Amino acid sequence: MSLKDWFAQRKENTQAEKQLDAEGMNRVADEQYAKLWHQCFSCNTNLPKKDLEDNLDVCPVCGYHNRIGAYQRIAQLTDTFVEWDAGMTATDPLLFTDTEPYVKRIADAQRKSKLNDAVITGLGAINEQPIALAVMDFAYMGGSMGSVVGEKITRAIEQAIALNVPVCVVTASGGARMQEGMFSLMQMVKTSAALARLHDAGLLYLTLLTEPTFGGVTASYGTLGDIIIAEEGARIGFAGRRVIEQTIHQKLPADFQTAGYLQKYGQVDRVLKRSEIKTEMGLLLRLHNTSSGKLAHSQAYQQLGLTVPDTVLQAEIALHKQPALAHNH
Ligand SMILES: [Zn+2]
Repeated sequence: MSLKDWFAQRKENTQAEKQLDAEGMNRVADEQYAKLWHQCFSCNTNLPKKDLEDNLDVCPVCGYHNRIGAYQRIAQLTDTFVEWDAGMTATDPLLFTDTEPYVKRIADAQRKSKLNDAVITGLGAINEQPIALAVMDFAYMGGSMGSVVGEKITRAIEQAIALNVPVCVVTASGGARMQEGMFSLMQMVKTSAALARLHDAGLLYLTLLTEPTFGGVTASYGTLGDIIIAEEGARIGFAGRRVIEQTIHQKLPADFQTAGYLQKYGQVDRVLKRSEIKTEMGLLLRLHNTSSGKLAHSQAYQQLGLTVPDTVLQAEIALHKQPALAHNH
C-alpha cells in the first residue's frame, strides 16, 4: 500500500467511525473507557491506566516498554531538575515548504506536543549527584534533530563543563530534521565537538538510547557515550531495516537493530529495563565521581537547591587559598 493509499484508507476509516457514532454508538461511555483503560500494544491485555503509570509505563503482564515523553522521563530519572533554555524555538532558515510550510509544521508540533522543540535540557540530581541532562521527546516532530536540538544539547554540555558535572543524553529520534537541511546536519559535528571538550575536561558522558533512535542522532551524540545504555525494547540504527534490505538484497535477522542485538555486537554496553535505569545511573555516577576525583562545583548544588556537601566546600576553599598563599611568598 502506498503512503497516499494509506492516508486515504485512514480517512475512510475515520469517516466510517463517525458514521457509527451517528448511528447511536455510546460515544461518551467509550471516551470514558479509553480514559481509564489502556490496551497493551504488545500483548493486547486491557490494563487500568493507573496500573501502567505506577509501573513506569511498562506493561506489568508482558514487560512492553511504552514510549514516554521527556518530562516523564526526567521525573523518573531525577530527584530534582532545573530546566535550561526552555523558551528556545526553531526559525525557518531555508523558508522550507514541502506539503506544507515548515513554520506551520512548527506551530502544529508545538500545539500537539505542548513542547517548544524536541529536546528538554537542564540540571538534575540522581541520588543527590548533579548531572546535566538532555532528554529528547519523540512527540515533537518525531524527535527530529534540528538547530534547536543541537544548540540546546551543546549549551548543556558547555554548562556541564562550567559546573564540572557529567552529562547524560536520552535519545528518541528518527534522525535529522529534513526541513532544516544542512543546518540539521551541522548539529552532528557541533554536538560532537562539544562532547570532545567534555572528554578533555575528564567528565563522564552517558547515553541512554530509547525507542527509537535513528539517523543523525545515532551517528553523532547518541553513540559517543563513554557508557552507552539502551532501554529494553529500543530499536537503534542508522538507516531503517527496510531501506537496508532493499539496498543489499538480503533478509536481515529478526532481532536486527534491537537493543539486545547491538549489545551482542558491542555497539551498546548495557541493556536495562526502565525500572533499573535510575539505580544503575546513580551507581555509575558515584563510581565516576569518586574514582575521578571530579567534584561538581558548589553552584551546581545551589542551582538545584541542594545542600553543598562538605567535601565540595573544603575543596573549593583549598583551591581559593592557594593563589593567596603564593602572593604572600
Ligand atoms: Zn503487555
